[in-house]
Amino acid sequence: MHTEYTRVVVVGGGPAGMMAGLLLARQGIEVIVLEKHGDFLQDFRGDTVHPSTLRIIEELGWIEEFLALPHSKVRTIGVQTPAGYTDFADFSKIGGKHPYIAFMPQWHVLDFLTRKGSQYPGFHLIRNAEATELVQDADEVRGVRVSTPDGPMELRADIVIAADGRHSAMRESAGLKPSVSKSPMDVLWFRLSRLPDERQTFLHTGQGFVLITIDRGDYWQMAYVIPQGGYATVKKQGLERLRADVGAIDAGLGSRMLEEVESWDDVKLLTVRVDRLRTWHRPGLLCIGDAAHAMSPAGGVGINLAVQDAVATARMLGPVLRAGRAPEERDLKKVQRRRELPVRAVQLAQVNMLADLYPKDRRKTVERPFAARMVRRFSFLNKWTAWFVGVGLRSEHIGPVVAGGGSGAGTSGVGS
Ligand SMILES: Cc1cc2nc3c(=O)[nH]c(=O)nc-3n(C[C@H](O)[C@H](O)[C@H](O)COP(=O)(O)OP(=O)(O)OC[C@H]3O[C@@H](n4cnc5c(N)ncnc54)[C@H](O)[C@@H]3O)c2cc1C
Repeated sequence: MHTEYTRVVVVGGGPAGMMAGLLLARQGIEVIVLEKHGDFLQDFRGDTVHPSTLRIIEELGWIEEFLALPHSKVRTIGVQTPAGYTDFADFSKIGGKHPYIAFMPQWHVLDFLTRKGSQYPGFHLIRNAEATELVQDADEVRGVRVSTPDGPMELRADIVIAADGRHSAMRESAGLKPSVSKSPMDVLWFRLSRLPDERQTFLHTGQGFVLITIDRGDYWQMAYVIPQGGYATVKKQGLERLRADVGAIDAGLGSRMLEEVESWDDVKLLTVRVDRLRTWHRPGLLCIGDAAHAMSPAGGVGINLAVQDAVATARMLGPVLRAGRAPEERDLKKVQRRRELPVRAVQLAQVNMLADLYPKDRRKTVERPFAARMVRRFSFLNKWTAWFVGVGLRSEHIGPVVAGGGSGAGTSGVGS
């Protein structure tokens, strides 16, 4: 097995890993990002780019190029319950240059970040490279073992950033165990074609389910939210019930179900997981994004929190690495301290405050969710729901470009 050395190894080329890798390379630091897949064309795993992420891209000076990629914009999230319709979150009220959610396929976002990263000499993305375990000396992480099509290799580094998602093998190899919250729901995803000018309310409640319709341009991304662990029951009740539920919300969509959702193969199950590491680090290792805190898809915040983690990581570890040092545990601790509050706040909202928005029993209608009722009563709150989802606590920023560290080098940000 041959061994190589670099300053930073990032495991995982998702939103967290790609952003962390490119922002460190932007500061002139040698970074290798390992991605186990050959491309980014994987199953649907969330395509919501929130105002916080759009602002980061704007601050990097890339926003026009980014928004030239195919996307749709959502300015309000509407909720329809038996109690009536509510504009639950109104992004147009939160100000800023990009007061909307951009729905963009995640592979476009990741391809974009790859292109931008490759502008920096220190940025190296290795595809088809799966990190199998950490290289450890006593309690200290020194690098990773990697399986590649050319055979195994060992990659040593000053710091390993684990951004390998919610089933992180790196955190397991480090013996870091997450505490798991009770996930309030599971989700079935499928697609239906969208007719020109067809408009939908974002969220509908029904008997034993919640239906979310996401406008993806020429199709609807449908999320049929069911009680946690309820997939077996839903399957037993049959595709007919699923089709009837959609038809009860919208006859037009219901009629398309028969042709476009022919079998359960057209329906994908997401078992929702909400967890968080108590400690995000070990000497030589930092976990970020879903590897540190798997998020529920409620609010579509996972990608955006992963990006915020990456910006904070590059901002806080960049200067240490630029000074030629390996980050110490106290440096890693600072990153966790910075990012834990926003993560906790969002998970609290996802698991508790929105709890009555999730179906609990297939026989009962999701009637009058408290959060929607409050926003319906006090409509000014929909500015704050939009702000919490779209921007959130402790938003990170990209700082001014400073000299030093090679072409394009700069600081990656100062927090607000
Ligand atoms: C079905 C689904 C729908 C979702 N919907 C939304 C949504 O609408 N909006 C939203 O914001 N969030 C959504 N999420 C969550 C969102 O996808 C994650 O929160 C976000 O992608 C986290 O980013 P990440 O970079 O931390 O991890 P990931 O995006 O999971 O990226 C991890 C990367 O690491 C790679 N990898 C894993 N193990 C290894 C290894 N050992 N070696 C090398 N590479 C490895 C993986 O291939 C992957 O590319 C959804 C998730 C799912 C599954």
